[in-house]
Amino acid sequence: MPEGDTIHHAAKRLREALVGHDIVELATPHPRHGRDRWPQRLSGRAVSGVDAHGKHLFVRFEGELTLHSHLRMTGMWGVYRRGRRWSRSPHRAWLVLRTGQRDIVQFDGPVLELMTDSRTRFDQRLTGLGPDIIGDDFSERAYLRRLRGDDLTRGIGEALLDQRNLAGIGNVWKSEACFLAGVSPWRSSGDVSDDEALEIVREARPLMLISAERGGHIVSYRPQRNASRRRRIAPEEESTWVYGRAGRPCRRCATPIRVRGQGDDNRATFWCPACQA
Ligand SMILES: [Zn+2]
Repeated sequence: MPEGDTIHHAAKRLREALVGHDIVELATPHPRHGRDRWPQRLSGRAVSGVDAHGKHLFVRFEGELTLHSHLRMTGMWGVYRRGRRWSRSPHRAWLVLRTGQRDIVQFDGPVLELMTDSRTRFDQRLTGLGPDIIGDDFSERAYLRRLRGDDLTRGIGEALLDQRNLAGIGNVWKSEACFLAGVSPWRSSGDVSDDEALEIVREARPLMLISAERGGHIVSYRPQRNASRRRRIAPEEESTWVYGRAGRPCRRCATPIRVRGQGDDNRATFWCPACQA
């Protein structure tokens, strides 16, 4: 599932491709949007900005209209030079924006809606979001306030995934951030001190900012220099401390990494039982 860093990276690529470029064609191939008349409603309007909050992405058009997207588990944004082959089938495209140079495509998008700017400011799903961990205006105090106002009996691993507490963290960063802060994801959030709760976001934020800038898969662990050159390594395996490494030795203490489903959604949580006692 794309996490906040991936969405911010998509916003950056869309901004570069759309702002200052004329849209020569806008199409909504998916039948669900067949009657929405977006091509007519957006005709002649330039894109004034593209931004993200957590896992939500907003393409803002002149005249107070905004496309809101959330990719959930399956969606993706692609930016392709005109004439290049897309990375997913055109049958899976929900939205295509064409400029003179680029095709900008949303595939498999479960949430894609056109709304007025004012609705983006009042929509409860959006106004209820917690501070964006990699937003320019991220506030540690706002994050703590929301965390403390939440159900304090929940495990901190589950609380971190609740986008009303903190927007942008997903399942991979949740496990990695708890490991880096030395906090067990199973401790109830009420037992996690303010310092520990802040340490979790202070560990994750700079790594997520790098990822948002560069794109690509999540990298929280880098092997020592020369250690793994020339070897073919599955990227996700070699780039995390605990995520995806169940049963393998902890990179710090060699204790086997464990995994178990957590919370109502039973999301896989990875942790080192020794480093995160
Ligand atoms: Zn360990």
